[in-house]
Amino acid sequence: MQSTLTRDLLYMSETIFDKIISGEIQSDIVYEDSEVLAFRDISPQAPTHILIIPKNNIPTINDLEEKDSNLIGKLVLTAKKIAEQEKISESGYRLVFNCNEHAGQTVFHVHLHLIGGRKLDWPPG
Ligand code: 5GP
Repeated sequence: MQSTLTRDLLYMSETIFDKIISGEIQSDIVYEDSEVLAFRDISPQAPTHILIIPKNNIPTINDLEEKDSNLIGKLVLTAKKIAEQEKISESGYRLVFNCNEHAGQTVFHVHLHLIGGRKLDWPPG
């Protein structure tokens, strides 16, 4: 279990995604509004690999609160629209939130992976 101090530090610390939101680091943006940003993953695992993130920093899915329910719903609906744009809605795609070490989370700013454009294995490794 994370201590309150660790959690506070995670909220305060700037991640690479904050630099992408501010434009300090360039990215291939596919969608943006006042709450949400979507951009292509720098290391794509499939022909379509897009990250959809909230603009405010929530470190992990464990940190979500009731007040975030609309925002998280919006990430999923944004992924659905981008899948249509990418023309992978019919063939199919996967939406993934990695949370903490066992899931392989490396950037501590909540992000939804939209992965598609090829047949994906199940179960994941
Ligand atoms: P996680 O492993 O935390 O679920 O996913 C983080 C993702 O962020 C990885 O798929 C990684 O390739 C991607 N990523 C890390 N740094 C950058 C960056 O600077 N630009 C972009 N576009 N993606 C990044």
